[in-house]
Amino acid sequence: MTRAFLFPGLTTRVIFGAGTLAQVPEELRRMGHRKALVLSTPHQEAEARALPLGDLSAGVFAGAAMHTPTDVTEKAVEAYTASGATCVVSLGGGSTTGLGKAIAVRTGADQLVIPTTYAGSEMTDILGETAGGEKTTRRDPAIRPEVVVYDVALTLTLPLSLTVTSALNALAHAMEALYAPDRNPVIEALCREALTAFKTALPRLTQNPADLDARAEALYAAWCCSTALGQVSMALHHKLAHVLGGSFGLPHAETHAVLLPHTTAFNAAAAPDLLRPLTETFGGAPGLWDFAQSLGAPLRLADIGMKAQDLDRAAEIAMRNAYWNPRPFDRSGIRNLLQAAFEGRRPN
Ligand code: NAD
Repeated sequence: MTRAFLFPGLTTRVIFGAGTLAQVPEELRRMGHRKALVLSTPHQEAEARALPLGDLSAGVFAGAAMHTPTDVTEKAVEAYTASGATCVVSLGGGSTTGLGKAIAVRTGADQLVIPTTYAGSEMTDILGETAGGEKTTRRDPAIRPEVVVYDVALTLTLPLSLTVTSALNALAHAMEALYAPDRNPVIEALCREALTAFKTALPRLTQNPADLDARAEALYAAWCCSTALGQVSMALHHKLAHVLGGSFGLPHAETHAVLLPHTTAFNAAAAPDLLRPLTETFGGAPGLWDFAQSLGAPLRLADIGMKAQDLDRAAEIAMRNAYWNPRPFDRSGIRNLLQAAFEGRRPN
């Protein structure tokens, strides 16, 4: 008999394709807005300024930064209020989407997001913010963007290294959604789609990062993963990535990429049936490690800024608040997992 489930429904309107940027003005008008403040990182300011918004533009705030620091948000809220805008257009990766969410939750602004990485913040009701070196995360319906415009053309400039790590970041959402206690059949189907699409697209992108079909396949997979992240609970993998990024300053996508084969190996023992799509597509955790290696992904926490002397403290922080995971764990289990990821050992 089919398992009982709850499907909360999808509320975000999604436009997916190549050249879809041209539809942004029409979308803003459909949402009832006359002025939009465009957000970006300093790195993507030129693209933000080139958005064809015409008289809908209320200017550009190009100060988005990783992990949504609240001091940046305060400046952005000032700019938003002074601009006379009633919504924000966030063009960029998870950092820019995070800034848009932080403005929205403080001001009630609507959000139109144009994602340019595979991180997957755009379909979620989750906001992580940092203040005084501490990262806190909350979920609230007011955080979820109203409209997402995926334009494959914008991902052509994504450097290959970020293409790979950002895709593994997305795959981590699918992996944890497969065993989430509040999973549902729609999300399970999207996760299977994402695994297959990334498996096909990523080797092609390592050969040719400008392959538009493979870029479309990867962005489609990223949408599936983002939708999964936005609907169900995450577990140990996301907790560890949060600890390493928030407390030790490790880079977001790379940290997910390094941890994924190890957290998968850890949880596969407790949820082999639920993780079957992963096993069938990649050959389980060892196959995932091989796949990451073949793409040139970083494999060792030691290579992305983690210090051996911080591993004990990372394990301690990860144990602080209780949270659900398919496999029960203790401090020493986490410490062993972190050691394996630190050294970049191929999981069994
Ligand atoms: P990012 O947004 O910081 O982008 C990394 C760099 O790549 C930036 O300089 C950016 O301008 C540049 N870049 C982005 N797209 C590009 C493109 N197409 N071409 C060239 N350069 C490009 O990194 P990210 O990994 O996308 O996002 C990480 C952040 O997102 C973290 O703070 C993380 O916590 C957050 N996040 C939040 C959620 C959520 O649901 N709340 C989900 C995923 C990630």
